[in-house]
Amino acid sequence: MYLVTEKKEECSGCTACKNICPTNAIEMIEDEEGFKYPHINKEKCINCKACEKICPNIKKDEKNDIKSVYGVKHKNDKERVTSRSGAAFVALSDYILKCKGVVYGAELGKDFSVFHNRAETKEQRDKFKGSKYIQSDMKDVIQNIKEDLKNNRKVLFTGTPCQVAGVEIVIPEKYKENLYTCDLICHGVPSKKIFFEFLKYIEKSTGEKIKEFNFRDKKFGWEPHYETFKFEDGQELTTQYFRNLFYGHNILRPACHKCNYANTHRPADITIADFWGVDKVAPEFMDEKGVSLVIINNEKGKEIFENVKSDFDIINVTKEDCIKYTYTLNNPTPRPDTREKFWEDYKKKDFSEIIEKYAK
Ligand SMILES: Cc1cc2nc3c(=O)[nH]c(=O)nc-3n(C[C@H](O)[C@H](O)[C@H](O)COP(=O)(O)OP(=O)(O)OC[C@H]3O[C@@H](n4cnc5c(N)ncnc54)[C@H](O)[C@@H]3O)c2cc1C
Ligand code: SF4
Ligand code: SF4
Repeated sequence: MYLVTEKKEECSGCTACKNICPTNAIEMIEDEEGFKYPHINKEKCINCKACEKICPNIKKDEKNDIKSVYGVKHKNDKERVTSRSGAAFVALSDYILKCKGVVYGAELGKDFSVFHNRAETKEQRDKFKGSKYIQSDMKDVIQNIKEDLKNNRKVLFTGTPCQVAGVEIVIPEKYKENLYTCDLICHGVPSKKIFFEFLKYIEKSTGEKIKEFNFRDKKFGWEPHYETFKFEDGQELTTQYFRNLFYGHNILRPACHKCNYANTHRPADITIADFWGVDKVAPEFMDEKGVSLVIINNEKGKEIFENVKSDFDIINVTKEDCIKYTYTLNNPTPRPDTREKFWEDYKKKDFSEIIEKYAK
């Protein structure tokens, strides 16, 4: 594990070690690629090794497996056009909010940072809608989740599988009755540092200040992938530069290429994804407003789905079709041969040259 070997591919940045440390000796510090890793303050450390034992990267929990799979579309089209796929997340989180519970998810801040936050209202929850294609900072949400559970609130945590694994491993069993987890099918998280360089590049090349950014604007439909900007003077811009950097895979966190969760043993109770195979499996269900794939992994997943399914139009999907069309249930994203060269170039060249070489 990373705290012993310092091998970056062994740390997904889930913050489990930081949260288990009894002396607060662990701080998450950003590296030169913009990803956070745990660092131990030797003066505070009492050498209990709790952090080494808890790491989900070594402590694999394979108790969940795919139980059933559905293709779903939220019946409210307004929810779908403002979500990434079929608005599965909205229905799940609506149910938790209706039960006076708390929802945790990834938000895009006014400064364009992406971080996990806590929501008790629909307005707060709506900030979690849509995919943000950089790693979300977990901040101190695991401690907040623990507090909410101690106070007998229902909690829904949503995030990447590695983040869910961190939450599931840190929360003591005695508080878990009210904890529901939902992971995404995830093929990797890009670097925040490159994202901020990209925003700077756009402001410099346009001479405009960015007011709003959308990682994948649904106004182009569900399948196309265009990012959009709104500037302070009211002008708009559409590009595919960040999309191309993302799919080039040079800017993913190193651990994503050795991902522990690119298989059917899901850390969460329920998994949501884009249902990319829908046009082949059930062409009549295909819809450019978006279709979600929902995978039930255990009894809790089944329980929450039973409570929300009246919000959806639903079709049954076989486990075989689900695995066939969901690439990251089979393998992690391969590490590209160009990764070292990309970061070498990034250190030496102006960002406009990076855009020319890797994003066009
Ligand atoms: C980095 C990333 C890679 C993905 N890769 C794939 C893929 O390869 N194949 C696939 O089928 N689906 C992928 N998805 C998931 C997919 O895009 C949708 O999140 C999913 O289909 C749910 O859509 P929805 O309409 O139900 O809800 P949405 O409105 O999209 O709900 C958003 C949910 O995503 C969470 N979220 C958003 N951004 C982040 C982030 N940066 N970190 C953690 N959680 C986040 C929110 O907390 C919320 O729970 C990816 C998502 C992300 C963030
Ligand atoms: S060994 Fe114990 S005290 Fe030291 S950093 Fe790890 S959890 Fe904290
Ligand atoms: S690909 Fe794996 S390691 Fe990377 S963010 Fe997704 S779940 Fe975490």
